[in-house]
Amino acid sequence: MITKQVRAYGTQNATAAVAPLDIARREPGPQDVEIEILYCGVCHSDLHQARNEWHNTIYPCVPGHEIVGRVIRTGASVSKFKPGDTAAVGCMVDSCGTCEHCRAGVEQFCLSFPTFTYNSPDKHLSGQTFGGYSSHIVVAEAFVLRVPPGMDLAATAPLLCAGITTYSPLRHWKVGPGQKVGIVGLGGLGHMGVKIARALGAHVVLFTTSPSKIADGLRLGAHEVVVSKDADAMKKHQSSFHFVLDAVSAQHDINMYLNLLKLDGTLTLLGAPEQPLPVAAFNLILPRRNFAGSAIGGIAETQEMLEFCAAHNLVSDIELIPIQKINEAYDRLLKQDVRYRFVIDMASLKS
Ligand code: NAP
Ligand code: ZN
Repeated sequence: MITKQVRAYGTQNATAAVAPLDIARREPGPQDVEIEILYCGVCHSDLHQARNEWHNTIYPCVPGHEIVGRVIRTGASVSKFKPGDTAAVGCMVDSCGTCEHCRAGVEQFCLSFPTFTYNSPDKHLSGQTFGGYSSHIVVAEAFVLRVPPGMDLAATAPLLCAGITTYSPLRHWKVGPGQKVGIVGLGGLGHMGVKIARALGAHVVLFTTSPSKIADGLRLGAHEVVVSKDADAMKKHQSSFHFVLDAVSAQHDINMYLNLLKLDGTLTLLGAPEQPLPVAAFNLILPRRNFAGSAIGGIAETQEMLEFCAAHNLVSDIELIPIQKINEAYDRLLKQDVRYRFVIDMASLKS
């Protein structure tokens, strides 16, 4: 297989800083699109995996799965893209395409396991896939998304993970007008959850541990903001929610949020902290509450989400950073100091 070396940033082990390295990208095959990466969002999953918090990282690890760029080459069979087009890539770059789940458009649950954009076995080259903290990526056309015209490209990048990961469960559990919906944690996922739940017509309540984020929560679309450390305020909302989306990256007491649900209400977990979260049985038993999970979204649904965001004028609130500031950005994520997604300006990779 012919490859070319491209510039990237990645980690060599769980305690090393993210630093420059060169990686191989395959020459585009007939169905492939080669993309010059312009922007890449920084998801908390990048940090979890760079530091092996999910205990499955293959090193070196080049994170990044919120990718927006420009098509520079296409294979002979590619019909949806041409050089010069804007294109986007999210958390997956391939799946088996034939199993029950792939055929149903939920490739993220591929029974043979999807190929994630980074830290998955690479089907074309030996070793693992490498993500968007790099100058170029080569992806099968079927996993490349179109960016609706007129969208701010840097602020669109986070939609490829934070956007779809919140859109998919809000749609699956049919959130809409007349429903009271809680979003827990105002970070990258949480702030998109607030915006999308509001656009879907729900009554949105943000739960945050950071009093400094109250004004932003309201500005981003929440009808109410509750500081979750305030026990009285939490009690007022007890057993009143149809749906709660938990987007917290660290260990926390899930029972506090299960208690918000009314009869048959659902709490969907998106956050993936390293350790298990204990659930008190009676918080589920009474009154018949559901505790669920959700992972990103399928490719067709990701395209639908991009069109939805374009139609509702939604993008992410971002802080654009040069790649050289990536380690500082990780430190700030851990301090809950993100307003509300870091996006890497990939032009900085050349400097
Ligand atoms: P993020 O930007 O770092 O935001 C996480 C937010 O969680 C923080 O801003 C903070 O909000 C809250 N938080 C952090 N530590 C907390 C603590 N100790 N107690 C209570 N709240 C705390 O992270 P993200 O990129 O949105 O990702 C969130 C989680 O979702 C990560 O675990 C990530 O791996 C996971 N994720 C899952 C999927 C999926 O498909 N299921 C996809 C992407 C990411 P406040 O300051 O408002 O409290
Ligand atoms: Zn992500």
